[in-house]
Amino acid sequence: MKQRIAIYPGTFDPITKGHMDIIRRALSVCDKLIIAVADDIPKTPIFAADKRAEMVQTDLEHMGLGKQAVMAMPFSGLLVDFAKEQGATILIRGLRAVSDFEYEFQLANMNLRLSPDIQTVFLPASDTHQFLASSMVKEIARLGGDVSEFVSKNVAEELKTYYRD
Ligand code: ADP
Repeated sequence: MKQRIAIYPGTFDPITKGHMDIIRRALSVCDKLIIAVADDIPKTPIFAADKRAEMVQTDLEHMGLGKQAVMAMPFSGLLVDFAKEQGATILIRGLRAVSDFEYEFQLANMNLRLSPDIQTVFLPASDTHQFLASSMVKEIARLGGDVSEFVSKNVAEELKTYYRD
């Protein structure tokens, strides 16, 4: 049977436990998952794309996920073009409460128009991660708070270093 390749795109600035939960669960709807870390984005991230992808890769390794099944890589340009290049037919997105719905619905429809062969699969955020967002984690870290509940040890260290320097 043909291998089902899925892309989980996002900014991942930085990756949180909410993202990790989606990654773990996405593996049950595909054979191979590529975490596509967006480089060319309207918002200004605190970490460069290569650094964000490296942090994702480190977390994947700590989760015990092998490189054959899941990998992280930076990408720029149109997501559907990147998906085609990678042979992917599924886009994974996470949905938190109602706040994500309108944007995600618009994005999924736009991607469907651009490429009818690629389907978006939404995974609902689990209740413990419903209110977890990278932007909030950054704000807590900036103010010197403890973010260890929300991100991995490695990411917490990276945030500490970023806001200290
Ligand atoms: P983007 O800037 O593309 O929204 P993010 O890195 O913020 O990138 O998020 C990537 C995807 O992961 C989005 O679909 C987002 O809704 C989802 N996501 C983010 N945080 C969580 C979370 N806590 N639980 C579930 N899904 C999440």
